[in-house]
This record gives sequence, C-alpha cells and structure tokens, in this order.
Amino acid sequence: MQKKKDKIIIGNWKMNPLTIKEAEKSFEDIKKSVSYVRKTTIVICPPLLYLEKLKKISRKINLGAQDAFWGDVGAFTGEVSAEMLYNAGIKYVILGHSERRTLGETNELVNKKIKGSLSAGLTPVLCVGESMRDENHSYFNLVKTQLEECLNGVKKTFASKIIIAYEPIWAISSTLNRHDATSVDSREMAIFIRKVLYDKFGAEASRIRIIYGGSVNEKDALDFLNNGGVDGLLSGRASLNAKKFAEIINIAENNF
Ligand code: PEP
Repeated sequence: MQKKKDKIIIGNWKMNPLTIKEAEKSFEDIKKSVSYVRKTTIVICPPLLYLEKLKKISRKINLGAQDAFWGDVGAFTGEVSAEMLYNAGIKYVILGHSERRTLGETNELVNKKIKGSLSAGLTPVLCVGESMRDENHSYFNLVKTQLEECLNGVKKTFASKIIIAYEPIWAISSTLNRHDATSVDSREMAIFIRKVLYDKFGAEASRIRIIYGGSVNEKDALDFLNNGGVDGLLSGRASLNAKKFAEIINIAENNF
C-alpha cells in the first residue's frame, strides 16, 4: 500500500499585493496562525520582488517563485534563473501556470524550465489542466500531452522532486464564467495523472506529489484533500486572505 504523505499547501499570490508592506503584513498574519503546524508543508509564492524580505520573516513557511528561467546566468534581459533563486534560498517554483501559458509559454519552454529548475535544486510545481471539458473526454489527452512534453527527458532520479498541480482552467477564480470543480473531477484526473507518471517513471512515480488547484477555499479544502486523490492544494485567491489560507493549512494539519 502506498505510504500516506503529509500534505503540502501552496499559496500562489500571483501579481499581488501592490506593496511590500501589505505583503509583509499578510505573511506575518499567516505566520502567527500556523505556529502549531508540524507536518504540513507550507509554501507561499509571492511576486519575485518580495521574496528577499519575506524570507527573513519565517523559517516554517517555505518560499517559491512563480516562474524561473532555464539558463543559469548570462545575457537574458528581464529573466531570473532557477540557479539564482536557489542561491537566494528559494525552494519551490511554479512552472507552466495557465496564466503564463496564455502569455505564450509552450510545453517545450516549460520543459526547459523544469530541467533547469531540477538541476538548480528547486522543486518544480508543474501546472497542467484543460480549459474546458468535452463529451469525448479529450481533455485527458491534453493533460497527458502536457505531462509528456513538459517532463520530456527528465531523469527518473529527479521524479520524486516534482510536484504536479492539476488546475482545470475552467475552475480557476480568474476565469470568466468559471464553475466549480468537484473532488470527483480531481480524483479521476489525479488517478489518470498517476498512471501517466507510472508509464514514464515506473515505481518512482508513487513518490511524486499530485495536488489540486482551482478556487479552493476553506469550505471545500477538506473534501478535496479527503476525496480528491491529492497530496495537497494550490490556492490562488484564498491565499491572499491570511485567515482563509491559515484555515486551509489548519484543515490539512489536523485531519491527516
Ligand atoms: C491558480 O491560479 O493557481 C489558482 C489556484 O487560483 P484560484 O485559487 O484563485 O482559482
């Protein structure tokens, strides 16, 4: 039987908040509410500019970036490399988020970033997910292609470092006319993702964490964690509210 893993709760702050003062306040508030947490891994991914300051506030809350460039150093105006993030004490990086894919990021580019991040020592959180569901279930193929292309050439020895975030775009809070995904939607996709990972990495696939993201809040977090077939959650909007985010962490800590 597969060993039960402690949960991981990741907050994606996206391009929020507007000032570092607000970021510090929110981070401090979350820190105060999670002092009792022992098992659950907490990660916050704020805008890049805030990382250095927030790093000094808490050791318990891990920090992540929302993107990383694949090269390590050199003439790449505007980019920040995975290596630089690692050297600055950052541990996680979200890659292939749907909002970045909308800006033109391809599976091929995400693949380079995944490899760069792994060799720099970061834990990549690879986001996959369909923009809509169809009767023919072709969204399974889309997610399979995303996984295969984004993980192309990644060595088995790195598999356990990777986190896969299933984020159906139609459920994300910023999507126009969005609607809720259920824990059943999450579970069937998590099983499918695990199968694709097994085909690629063999038994090592059991060590890869699969998490769910898409408008998760303090009311449905328990259902997703209990019935969604996942090892954790990626939260966007709710993570901007210190109280709500701390409640989600609380649920993960106290029920597993
Ligand atoms: C996200 O975009 O990664 C996300 C999970 O957002 P939200 O929780 O706001 O839907």
